[in-house]
Amino acid sequence: MTFDELGLSQKVLAAVEASGYTKPTPIQEQAIPPALQGRDILGIAQTGTGKTAAFTLPMLCRLEQGRARARMPRTLILEPTRELAAQVEASFAKYGANHKLNVALLIGGVSFGDQEAKIMRGADVLIATPGRLLDFFDRGKLLLTNIEILVIDEADRMLDMGFIPDIERVCKLVPFTRQTLFFSATMPPEITRLTEAFLHNPVRVEVARASTTAATIRQALVATHGHAEKRETLRRIIRGADSFKNAIIFCNRKRDVAILHRSLDKHGFSAGALHGDMDQLARMASLDAFKNGDVNLLVCSDVAARGLDIPDVSHVFNFDVPTHSEDYVHRIGRTGRAGRSGTAFTLVTDDDRKYLDQIETLIGKKIDWEGPGLDELPPPSEAPARESRGRGRSRSSGERSGRRAAPEREARTEREARSEREPRREARQEREPPRERAPRQERAAQDREARPEREARPPARPARPERPPTYGDRRDRRPTRQPEDDGPPVIGLGDHIPSFLLRPVVLKPAKVGDE
Ligand code: AMP
Repeated sequence: MTFDELGLSQKVLAAVEASGYTKPTPIQEQAIPPALQGRDILGIAQTGTGKTAAFTLPMLCRLEQGRARARMPRTLILEPTRELAAQVEASFAKYGANHKLNVALLIGGVSFGDQEAKIMRGADVLIATPGRLLDFFDRGKLLLTNIEILVIDEADRMLDMGFIPDIERVCKLVPFTRQTLFFSATMPPEITRLTEAFLHNPVRVEVARASTTAATIRQALVATHGHAEKRETLRRIIRGADSFKNAIIFCNRKRDVAILHRSLDKHGFSAGALHGDMDQLARMASLDAFKNGDVNLLVCSDVAARGLDIPDVSHVFNFDVPTHSEDYVHRIGRTGRAGRSGTAFTLVTDDDRKYLDQIETLIGKKIDWEGPGLDELPPPSEAPARESRGRGRSRSSGERSGRRAAPEREARTEREARSEREPRREARQEREPPRERAPRQERAAQDREARPEREARPPARPARPERPPTYGDRRDRRPTRQPEDDGPPVIGLGDHIPSFLLRPVVLKPAKVGDE
Protein backbone atom coordinates (compact mmCIF):
# COMPACT_ATOMS: atom_id res chain seq x y z
CA MET A 1 0.00 0.00 0.00
CA THR A 2 1.12 3.58 -0.63
CA PHE A 3 0.32 6.78 1.27
CA ASP A 4 -1.83 7.92 -1.69
CA GLU A 5 -4.27 5.10 -1.01
CA LEU A 6 -4.93 6.05 2.61
CA GLY A 7 -7.24 8.98 1.86
CA LEU A 8 -4.96 11.73 3.20
CA SER A 9 -5.20 15.32 1.91
CA GLN A 10 -2.78 16.72 -0.67
CA LYS A 11 -1.11 18.99 1.88
CA VAL A 12 -0.47 16.09 4.22
CA LEU A 13 0.76 13.85 1.40
CA ALA A 14 3.21 16.54 0.32
CA ALA A 15 4.63 16.74 3.86
CA VAL A 16 4.88 12.97 4.08
CA GLU A 17 6.77 12.90 0.82
CA ALA A 18 9.06 15.65 2.05
CA SER A 19 9.77 13.53 5.14
CA GLY A 20 11.13 10.87 2.81
CA TYR A 21 8.59 8.19 3.69
CA THR A 22 7.66 6.02 0.76
CA LYS A 23 5.44 3.43 2.39
CA PRO A 24 3.11 3.57 5.38
CA THR A 25 4.05 1.37 8.33
CA PRO A 26 1.52 -1.34 9.34
CA ILE A 27 0.00 0.80 12.08
CA GLN A 28 -0.37 3.74 9.68
CA GLU A 29 -1.89 1.52 7.02
CA GLN A 30 -4.48 0.12 9.40
CA ALA A 31 -5.25 3.14 11.57
CA ILE A 32 -5.29 6.08 9.15
CA PRO A 33 -8.28 5.13 6.92
CA PRO A 34 -10.72 4.49 9.82
CA ALA A 35 -9.37 7.53 11.71
CA LEU A 36 -10.13 9.68 8.64
CA GLN A 37 -13.69 8.33 8.72
CA GLY A 38 -14.02 9.61 12.28
CA ARG A 39 -13.86 6.21 13.97
CA ASP A 40 -12.29 5.75 17.41
CA ILE A 41 -9.01 3.84 17.26
CA LEU A 42 -7.51 1.48 19.79
CA GLY A 43 -3.91 1.12 18.63
CA ILE A 44 -1.74 -1.45 20.36
CA ALA A 45 1.71 -0.44 19.26
CA GLN A 46 5.05 0.63 20.63
CA THR A 47 7.26 3.56 19.85
CA GLY A 48 9.22 2.92 16.69
CA THR A 49 6.22 1.57 14.79
CA GLY A 50 5.32 4.95 13.28
CA LYS A 51 2.34 5.45 15.58
CA THR A 52 2.88 9.21 15.95
CA ALA A 53 2.23 9.72 12.25
CA ALA A 54 -0.70 7.27 12.52
CA PHE A 55 -2.56 9.79 14.66
CA THR A 56 -0.93 13.05 13.51
CA LEU A 57 -1.69 12.67 9.80
CA PRO A 58 -5.47 12.12 10.13
CA MET A 59 -5.62 14.92 12.72
CA LEU A 60 -4.01 17.32 10.25
CA CYS A 61 -6.61 16.43 7.61
CA ARG A 62 -9.40 17.12 10.08
CA LEU A 63 -7.85 20.42 11.15
CA GLU A 64 -7.86 21.73 7.59
CA GLN A 65 -11.50 22.70 8.16
CA GLY A 66 -12.45 25.18 10.87
CA ARG A 67 -10.33 27.30 13.14
CA ALA A 68 -9.39 27.56 16.79
CA ARG A 69 -10.83 29.99 19.30
CA ALA A 70 -9.15 31.57 22.29
CA ARG A 71 -8.75 29.20 25.23
CA MET A 72 -10.60 26.48 23.31
CA PRO A 73 -8.21 24.06 21.63
CA ARG A 74 -9.62 21.85 18.90
CA THR A 75 -7.57 18.74 19.46
CA LEU A 76 -5.78 17.42 22.52
CA ILE A 77 -2.91 14.95 22.73
CA LEU A 78 -1.96 13.58 26.13
CA GLU A 79 1.56 12.30 26.61
CA PRO A 80 3.03 10.81 29.80
CA THR A 81 6.30 12.76 29.74
CA ARG A 82 7.54 16.15 28.70
CA GLU A 83 10.06 14.70 26.26
CA LEU A 84 7.41 12.70 24.47
CA ALA A 85 5.16 15.74 24.33
CA ALA A 86 8.01 17.78 22.83
CA GLN A 87 8.67 15.00 20.35
CA VAL A 88 5.05 14.97 19.19
CA GLU A 89 5.21 18.74 18.81
CA ALA A 90 8.20 18.26 16.50
CA SER A 91 6.19 15.71 14.48
CA PHE A 92 3.42 18.28 14.05
CA ALA A 93 5.94 20.79 12.82
CA LYS A 94 7.22 18.25 10.28
CA TYR A 95 3.95 16.76 9.04
CA GLY A 96 2.07 20.04 9.37
CA ALA A 97 4.65 22.05 7.41
CA ASN A 98 2.01 22.97 4.81
CA HIS A 99 -0.65 23.92 7.35
CA LYS A 100 -0.88 27.13 9.28
CA LEU A 101 -1.70 25.63 12.65
CA ASN A 102 -1.19 26.85 16.16
CA VAL A 103 0.35 24.14 18.26
CA ALA A 104 0.65 24.68 22.01
CA LEU A 105 2.72 22.57 24.33
CA LEU A 106 1.61 22.36 27.96
CA ILE A 107 4.30 20.66 29.97
CA GLY A 108 5.75 21.12 33.41
CA GLY A 109 9.09 22.79 33.93
CA VAL A 110 8.25 25.58 31.47
CA SER A 111 6.84 28.99 32.46
CA PHE A 112 3.08 29.36 32.52
CA GLY A 113 3.16 32.73 30.79
CA ASP A 114 4.25 31.62 27.32
CA GLN A 115 1.99 28.63 27.39
CA GLU A 116 -0.96 30.76 28.42
CA ALA A 117 -0.28 33.24 25.62
CA LYS A 118 -0.40 30.43 23.05
CA ILE A 119 -3.67 29.12 24.39
CA MET A 120 -5.14 32.63 24.43
CA ARG A 121 -4.25 32.98 20.73
CA GLY A 122 -6.29 29.83 20.03
CA ALA A 123 -4.60 26.47 19.71
CA ASP A 124 -5.53 24.02 16.98
CA VAL A 125 -3.47 21.37 18.67
CA LEU A 126 -2.76 21.14 22.37
CA ILE A 127 -0.08 18.65 23.38
CA ALA A 128 0.08 18.19 27.12
CA THR A 129 1.14 16.12 30.07
CA PRO A 130 -1.87 15.40 32.30
CA GLY A 131 -0.69 17.32 35.37
CA ARG A 132 -0.01 20.62 33.63
CA LEU A 133 -3.18 20.32 31.55
CA LEU A 134 -5.40 19.93 34.60
CA ASP A 135 -3.54 22.68 36.34
CA PHE A 136 -4.44 25.06 33.51
CA PHE A 137 -7.97 23.79 33.48
CA ASP A 138 -8.41 24.21 37.24
CA ARG A 139 -7.09 27.76 37.04
CA GLY A 140 -9.79 28.52 34.48
CA LYS A 141 -7.25 29.24 31.72
CA LEU A 142 -8.51 26.55 29.42
CA LEU A 143 -11.80 25.12 28.17
CA LEU A 144 -12.03 21.62 26.81
CA THR A 145 -15.52 21.94 25.36
CA ASN A 146 -14.32 22.37 21.78
CA ILE A 147 -12.13 19.27 21.58
CA GLU A 148 -12.86 17.37 18.37
CA ILE A 149 -10.13 14.76 18.64
CA LEU A 150 -8.58 13.40 21.82
CA VAL A 151 -5.38 11.36 21.57
CA ILE A 152 -4.18 9.33 24.53
CA ASP A 153 -0.69 8.11 23.80
CA GLU A 154 1.38 5.54 25.72
CA ALA A 155 -1.57 4.70 27.97
CA ASP A 156 0.21 1.86 29.75
CA ARG A 157 2.96 4.22 30.69
CA MET A 158 0.37 6.67 32.02
CA LEU A 159 -0.80 3.79 34.19
CA ASP A 160 2.74 3.17 35.44
CA MET A 161 2.95 6.80 36.42
CA GLY A 162 -0.37 6.90 38.22
CA PHE A 163 -2.01 9.20 35.66
CA ILE A 164 -5.13 7.11 35.07
CA PRO A 165 -7.40 9.16 37.39
CA ASP A 166 -6.28 12.28 35.52
CA ILE A 167 -6.99 10.62 32.17
CA GLU A 168 -10.44 9.61 33.36
CA ARG A 169 -11.09 13.15 34.43
CA VAL A 170 -9.99 14.57 31.09
CA CYS A 171 -12.15 12.04 29.23
CA LYS A 172 -15.15 13.34 31.17
CA LEU A 173 -14.26 16.98 30.52
CA VAL A 174 -14.05 16.70 26.73
CA PRO A 175 -17.26 16.47 24.69
CA PHE A 176 -18.89 13.08 24.43
CA THR A 177 -18.96 13.43 20.64
CA ARG A 178 -15.20 13.78 20.19
CA GLN A 179 -13.17 11.18 18.32
CA THR A 180 -10.67 9.28 20.48
CA LEU A 181 -7.41 7.81 19.23
CA PHE A 182 -5.94 5.65 21.97
CA PHE A 183 -2.50 4.03 21.91
CA SER A 184 -0.87 1.63 24.31
CA ALA A 185 2.01 -0.80 23.94
CA THR A 186 0.33 -3.34 26.22
CA MET A 187 -3.20 -3.88 27.46
CA PRO A 188 -3.24 -4.52 31.22
CA PRO A 189 -6.75 -4.83 32.76
CA GLU A 190 -6.84 -1.20 33.94
CA ILE A 191 -6.24 -0.02 30.39
CA THR A 192 -8.86 -2.36 28.95
CA ARG A 193 -11.33 -0.97 31.48
CA LEU A 194 -10.46 2.57 30.42
CA THR A 195 -10.96 1.80 26.74
CA GLU A 196 -14.29 0.15 27.48
CA ALA A 197 -15.43 3.22 29.37
CA PHE A 198 -14.24 5.91 26.98
CA LEU A 199 -13.92 4.56 23.44
CA HIS A 200 -16.97 4.23 21.23
CA ASN A 201 -16.94 1.11 19.09
CA PRO A 202 -13.22 1.48 18.33
CA VAL A 203 -11.33 -0.09 15.45
CA ARG A 204 -8.67 -2.24 17.09
CA VAL A 205 -5.31 -2.11 15.37
CA GLU A 206 -2.50 -4.21 16.72
CA VAL A 207 1.06 -4.42 15.52
CA ALA A 208 3.61 -7.03 16.53
CA ARG A 209 4.77 -7.11 20.12
CA ALA A 210 8.41 -6.22 20.54
CA SER A 211 9.76 -9.71 20.83
CA THR A 212 11.46 -9.64 17.49
CA THR A 213 14.60 -7.74 16.69
CA ALA A 214 15.15 -6.17 13.30
CA ALA A 215 17.22 -8.16 10.85
CA THR A 216 19.18 -4.97 10.12
CA ILE A 217 20.74 -5.01 13.61
CA ARG A 218 23.92 -6.96 14.18
CA GLN A 219 23.85 -8.18 17.76
CA ALA A 220 26.92 -9.28 19.69
CA LEU A 221 27.80 -10.21 23.25
CA VAL A 222 31.05 -9.24 24.90
CA ALA A 223 32.10 -11.17 27.99
CA THR A 224 33.69 -9.04 30.66
CA HIS A 225 34.27 -8.71 34.39
CA GLY A 226 33.16 -6.12 36.98
CA HIS A 227 32.54 -2.44 36.46
CA ALA A 228 36.02 -1.02 35.93
CA GLU A 229 36.74 -3.64 33.30
CA LYS A 230 33.36 -3.06 31.74
CA ARG A 231 34.20 0.59 31.22
CA GLU A 232 37.50 -0.32 29.71
CA THR A 233 35.86 -2.93 27.48
CA LEU A 234 33.31 -0.37 26.35
CA ARG A 235 36.01 2.12 25.39
CA ARG A 236 37.83 -0.56 23.49
CA ILE A 237 34.75 -1.55 21.50
CA ILE A 238 33.82 2.05 20.72
CA ARG A 239 37.31 2.74 19.44
CA GLY A 240 37.35 -0.40 17.32
CA ALA A 241 33.74 -0.32 16.11
CA ASP A 242 33.05 -0.49 12.39
CA SER A 243 31.30 2.50 10.78
CA PHE A 244 30.79 4.13 14.15
CA LYS A 245 28.80 7.35 14.05
CA ASN A 246 27.12 7.62 17.41
CA ALA A 247 25.80 5.41 20.18
CA ILE A 248 23.32 5.14 22.97
CA ILE A 249 24.72 3.36 26.00
CA PHE A 250 22.26 1.84 28.44
CA CYS A 251 22.90 1.27 32.13
CA ASN A 252 20.45 -0.40 34.51
CA ARG A 253 21.00 2.11 37.30
CA LYS A 254 20.91 5.87 37.39
CA ARG A 255 24.00 5.93 39.55
CA ASP A 256 25.92 4.02 36.91
CA VAL A 257 24.73 6.39 34.19
CA ALA A 258 26.39 9.23 36.07
CA ILE A 259 29.56 7.25 36.80
CA LEU A 260 29.96 6.03 33.24
CA HIS A 261 29.26 9.48 31.85
CA ARG A 262 31.99 10.99 34.02
CA SER A 263 34.38 8.21 33.12
CA LEU A 264 33.83 8.60 29.36
CA ASP A 265 34.24 12.31 29.71
CA LYS A 266 37.48 11.84 31.57
CA HIS A 267 38.77 9.54 28.85
CA GLY A 268 38.17 12.18 26.22
CA PHE A 269 34.94 10.87 24.69
CA SER A 270 32.20 13.28 23.84
CA ALA A 271 29.29 12.02 25.89
CA GLY A 272 26.02 13.22 27.37
CA ALA A 273 23.82 11.63 30.02
CA LEU A 274 20.12 11.12 30.47
CA HIS A 275 18.62 9.83 33.69
CA GLY A 276 15.63 10.41 35.88
CA ASP A 277 17.39 12.52 38.52
CA MET A 278 18.41 15.21 36.03
CA ASP A 279 16.18 18.24 35.83
CA GLN A 280 14.13 19.02 32.76
CA LEU A 281 16.54 21.55 31.29
CA ALA A 282 19.56 19.31 31.70
CA ARG A 283 17.78 16.38 30.08
CA MET A 284 16.58 18.48 27.15
CA ALA A 285 20.10 19.87 26.72
CA SER A 286 21.62 16.36 26.72
CA LEU A 287 19.11 15.08 24.23
CA ASP A 288 19.53 18.06 21.92
CA ALA A 289 23.32 17.83 22.08
CA PHE A 290 23.09 14.19 21.01
CA LYS A 291 20.54 14.84 18.29
CA ASN A 292 22.60 17.73 16.90
CA GLY A 293 25.78 15.68 16.97
CA ASP A 294 27.51 17.92 19.55
CA VAL A 295 28.13 14.73 21.50
CA ASN A 296 28.16 11.31 19.89
CA LEU A 297 27.56 9.15 22.95
CA LEU A 298 24.47 9.27 25.13
CA VAL A 299 24.56 7.31 28.36
CA CYS A 300 21.08 6.68 29.67
CA SER A 301 18.73 4.63 31.78
CA ASP A 302 15.72 2.77 30.39
CA VAL A 303 13.11 4.93 32.02
CA ALA A 304 14.66 8.20 30.88
CA ALA A 305 15.09 6.96 27.32
CA ARG A 306 11.82 5.13 26.90
CA GLY A 307 9.75 6.34 23.99
CA LEU A 308 12.28 8.89 22.80
CA ASP A 309 12.77 8.88 19.08
CA ILE A 310 16.41 9.43 18.32
CA PRO A 311 16.92 8.64 14.66
CA ASP A 312 20.06 7.52 12.98
CA VAL A 313 21.96 5.81 15.77
CA SER A 314 24.71 3.57 14.48
CA HIS A 315 25.38 1.66 17.71
CA VAL A 316 23.66 0.64 20.90
CA PHE A 317 25.66 -0.59 23.87
CA ASN A 318 24.13 -2.43 26.77
CA PHE A 319 26.64 -1.54 29.43
CA ASP A 320 24.48 -3.71 31.69
CA VAL A 321 22.39 -6.64 30.54
CA PRO A 322 18.80 -5.52 31.09
CA THR A 323 17.02 -7.46 33.80
CA HIS A 324 13.72 -7.28 31.90
CA SER A 325 14.17 -9.03 28.58
CA GLU A 326 11.72 -6.78 26.74
CA ASP A 327 13.97 -3.83 27.58
CA TYR A 328 16.65 -5.52 25.48
CA VAL A 329 14.39 -5.41 22.45
CA HIS A 330 13.48 -1.77 23.10
CA ARG A 331 17.08 -0.76 23.67
CA ILE A 332 18.55 -2.33 20.58
CA GLY A 333 15.59 -1.13 18.54
CA ARG A 334 17.21 2.34 18.81
CA THR A 335 19.50 1.33 16.01
CA GLY A 336 18.81 -0.33 12.67
CA ARG A 337 15.72 1.82 12.18
CA ALA A 338 13.88 2.29 8.91
CA GLY A 339 15.95 -0.32 7.09
CA ARG A 340 19.33 1.17 8.08
CA SER A 341 21.94 -1.12 9.53
CA GLY A 342 23.01 -0.89 13.13
CA THR A 343 25.04 -2.74 15.72
CA ALA A 344 24.15 -3.64 19.28
CA PHE A 345 26.81 -4.81 21.73
CA THR A 346 25.90 -6.21 25.13
CA LEU A 347 28.51 -6.46 27.87
CA VAL A 348 27.92 -9.62 29.86
CA THR A 349 29.37 -10.64 33.22
CA ASP A 350 29.05 -13.94 35.00
CA ASP A 351 26.16 -12.58 37.09
CA ASP A 352 24.11 -11.88 33.98
CA ARG A 353 23.72 -15.46 32.71
CA LYS A 354 20.13 -15.74 33.89
CA TYR A 355 19.08 -12.49 32.20
CA LEU A 356 20.91 -13.37 29.02
CA ASP A 357 19.04 -16.68 28.85
CA GLN A 358 15.75 -14.84 29.25
CA ILE A 359 16.65 -12.45 26.44
CA GLU A 360 17.65 -15.23 24.10
CA THR A 361 14.42 -17.06 24.90
CA LEU A 362 12.38 -13.93 24.17
CA ILE A 363 14.03 -13.15 20.86
CA GLY A 364 14.12 -16.83 19.94
CA LYS A 365 17.77 -17.01 19.01
CA LYS A 366 21.27 -17.15 20.43
CA ILE A 367 23.38 -14.02 20.18
CA ASP A 368 26.97 -14.43 19.00
CA TRP A 369 29.91 -13.65 21.24
CA GLU A 370 32.42 -11.14 20.01
CA GLY A 371 35.61 -12.63 21.43
CA PRO A 372 35.60 -15.28 24.17
CA GLY A 373 32.36 -16.34 25.82
CA LEU A 374 31.87 -16.19 29.58
CA ASP A 375 33.28 -19.68 30.08
CA GLU A 376 36.48 -18.90 28.23
CA LEU A 377 37.06 -15.48 29.74
CA PRO A 378 40.35 -15.31 31.65
CA PRO A 379 40.08 -14.26 35.29
CA PRO A 380 40.23 -10.48 35.79
CA SER A 381 43.83 -10.39 36.95
CA GLU A 382 45.24 -12.06 33.82
CA ALA A 383 43.46 -9.87 31.27
CA PRO A 384 45.40 -11.04 28.21
CA ALA A 385 44.52 -10.06 24.66
CA ARG A 386 41.32 -11.81 23.71
CA GLU A 387 40.94 -14.68 21.35
CA SER A 388 37.76 -15.41 19.49
CA ARG A 389 36.26 -18.66 20.72
CA GLY A 390 33.19 -18.42 22.92
CA ARG A 391 30.29 -20.83 22.48
CA GLY A 392 31.49 -21.66 19.00
CA ARG A 393 29.32 -18.89 17.58
CA SER A 394 31.67 -15.95 17.54
CA ARG A 395 32.70 -14.06 14.43
CA SER A 396 35.77 -15.30 12.64
CA SER A 397 38.95 -14.13 14.25
CA GLY A 398 40.15 -12.93 10.86
CA GLU A 399 37.43 -10.31 10.94
CA ARG A 400 38.79 -8.90 14.14
CA SER A 401 42.48 -9.50 13.85
CA GLY A 402 44.63 -6.44 13.46
CA ARG A 403 41.75 -4.02 13.69
CA ARG A 404 40.91 -5.03 17.25
CA ALA A 405 44.46 -5.74 18.34
CA ALA A 406 45.42 -2.09 18.34
CA PRO A 407 42.56 -0.85 20.53
CA GLU A 408 43.19 -3.72 22.94
CA ARG A 409 46.80 -2.77 23.30
CA GLU A 410 45.77 0.80 23.62
CA ALA A 411 43.24 -0.09 26.30
CA ARG A 412 45.78 -1.98 28.35
CA THR A 413 48.36 0.71 28.14
CA GLU A 414 45.72 3.25 28.97
CA ARG A 415 44.67 1.26 32.02
CA GLU A 416 48.22 0.89 33.18
CA ALA A 417 48.86 4.57 32.69
CA ARG A 418 45.67 5.40 34.53
CA SER A 419 46.47 3.19 37.49
CA GLU A 420 49.76 5.02 37.78
CA ARG A 421 48.13 8.42 37.43
CA GLU A 422 45.15 7.93 39.68
CA PRO A 423 45.18 4.57 41.28
CA ARG A 424 42.68 5.36 43.96
CA ARG A 425 39.76 7.23 42.49
CA GLU A 426 38.27 4.62 40.15
CA ALA A 427 39.13 1.78 42.47
CA ARG A 428 37.23 3.57 45.21
CA GLN A 429 34.17 3.82 43.00
CA GLU A 430 34.30 0.11 42.23
CA ARG A 431 34.65 -1.12 45.78
CA GLU A 432 31.46 -1.79 47.62
CA PRO A 433 31.38 0.23 50.81
CA PRO A 434 32.14 -1.85 53.90
CA ARG A 435 28.62 -2.93 54.73
CA GLU A 436 29.30 -4.30 58.15
CA ARG A 437 30.46 -0.92 59.37
CA ALA A 438 27.84 1.17 57.61
CA PRO A 439 25.20 2.69 59.83
CA ARG A 440 21.64 1.69 59.10
CA GLN A 441 20.59 4.76 57.09
CA GLU A 442 23.65 4.47 54.91
CA ARG A 443 22.99 0.78 54.33
CA ALA A 444 19.41 1.52 53.31
CA ALA A 445 20.67 4.14 50.86
CA GLN A 446 23.18 1.66 49.45
CA ASP A 447 20.49 -0.98 49.03
CA ARG A 448 18.25 1.45 47.21
CA GLU A 449 21.09 2.53 44.94
CA ALA A 450 22.07 -1.03 44.18
CA ARG A 451 18.61 -1.99 42.95
CA PRO A 452 17.97 -1.63 39.23
CA GLU A 453 16.25 1.63 38.33
CA ARG A 454 12.88 0.06 37.61
CA GLU A 455 12.75 -1.76 40.93
CA ALA A 456 14.14 1.20 42.79
CA ARG A 457 11.14 3.33 41.99
CA PRO A 458 9.03 4.11 45.00
CA PRO A 459 5.88 2.03 45.11
CA ALA A 460 3.79 5.14 45.44
CA ARG A 461 4.22 8.87 45.58
CA PRO A 462 1.44 10.84 47.05
CA ALA A 463 1.73 14.04 45.05
CA ARG A 464 0.71 14.80 41.47
CA PRO A 465 3.78 15.50 39.38
CA GLU A 466 3.32 18.95 38.00
CA ARG A 467 0.56 20.48 40.02
CA PRO A 468 0.33 21.30 43.68
CA PRO A 469 -2.84 19.87 45.22
CA THR A 470 -5.73 22.22 44.72
CA TYR A 471 -8.86 22.53 46.76
CA GLY A 472 -11.29 19.78 45.86
CA ASP A 473 -8.69 17.29 44.67
CA ARG A 474 -9.71 13.70 45.22
CA ARG A 475 -7.79 12.38 48.17
CA ASP A 476 -8.57 8.78 47.35
CA ARG A 477 -6.87 8.88 43.98
CA ARG A 478 -4.33 6.29 43.03
CA PRO A 479 -0.92 7.53 44.18
CA THR A 480 0.88 9.34 41.43
CA ARG A 481 4.50 8.90 40.51
CA GLN A 482 6.49 11.79 39.18
CA PRO A 483 7.35 11.01 35.55
CA GLU A 484 10.92 12.07 35.55
CA ASP A 485 11.61 11.24 39.16
CA ASP A 486 11.79 7.53 38.71
CA GLY A 487 14.49 6.85 41.23
CA PRO A 488 14.55 5.87 44.82
CA PRO A 489 12.52 7.94 47.24
CA VAL A 490 14.45 11.04 48.15
CA ILE A 491 13.59 12.58 51.48
CA GLY A 492 14.89 16.01 50.75
CA LEU A 493 18.48 15.26 51.63
CA GLY A 494 19.79 14.55 48.15
CA ASP A 495 23.06 12.64 48.30
CA HIS A 496 23.99 14.26 51.53
CA ILE A 497 23.06 12.49 54.73
CA PRO A 498 23.70 14.73 57.71
CA SER A 499 26.15 13.32 60.18
CA PHE A 500 23.64 13.28 63.04
CA LEU A 501 21.63 10.69 61.08
CA LEU A 502 24.69 8.55 60.60
CA ARG A 503 25.57 8.42 64.27
CA PRO A 504 24.56 5.05 65.73
CA VAL A 505 21.87 5.32 68.36
CA VAL A 506 23.16 3.88 71.61
CA LEU A 507 20.41 2.83 73.92
CA LYS A 508 21.60 3.07 77.46
CA PRO A 509 20.18 0.43 79.80
CA ALA A 510 17.79 1.92 82.32
CA LYS A 511 19.42 2.43 85.65
CA VAL A 512 17.44 0.58 88.22
CA GLY A 513 17.87 1.19 91.88
CA ASP A 514 20.38 4.02 91.50
CA GLU A 515 18.46 6.32 93.63
P1 AMP B 1 7.16 6.62 16.15
O1 AMP B 1 6.78 5.18 16.38
O2 AMP B 1 6.00 7.45 15.84
O3 AMP B 1 7.98 7.16 17.29
O4 AMP B 1 8.09 6.68 14.84
C1 AMP B 1 9.32 6.07 14.79
C2 AMP B 1 10.19 6.60 13.66
O5 AMP B 1 9.72 6.13 12.41
C3 AMP B 1 10.22 8.10 13.55
O6 AMP B 1 11.57 8.49 13.40
C4 AMP B 1 9.48 8.44 12.29
O7 AMP B 1 10.02 9.58 11.69
C5 AMP B 1 9.69 7.20 11.46
N1 AMP B 1 8.59 6.91 10.54
C6 AMP B 1 7.27 7.07 10.77
N2 AMP B 1 6.55 6.68 9.70
C7 AMP B 1 7.43 6.23 8.79
C8 AMP B 1 7.29 5.68 7.47
N3 AMP B 1 6.10 5.50 6.92
N4 AMP B 1 8.41 5.35 6.82
C9 AMP B 1 9.63 5.51 7.39
N5 AMP B 1 9.83 6.02 8.62
C10 AMP B 1 8.74 6.37 9.31
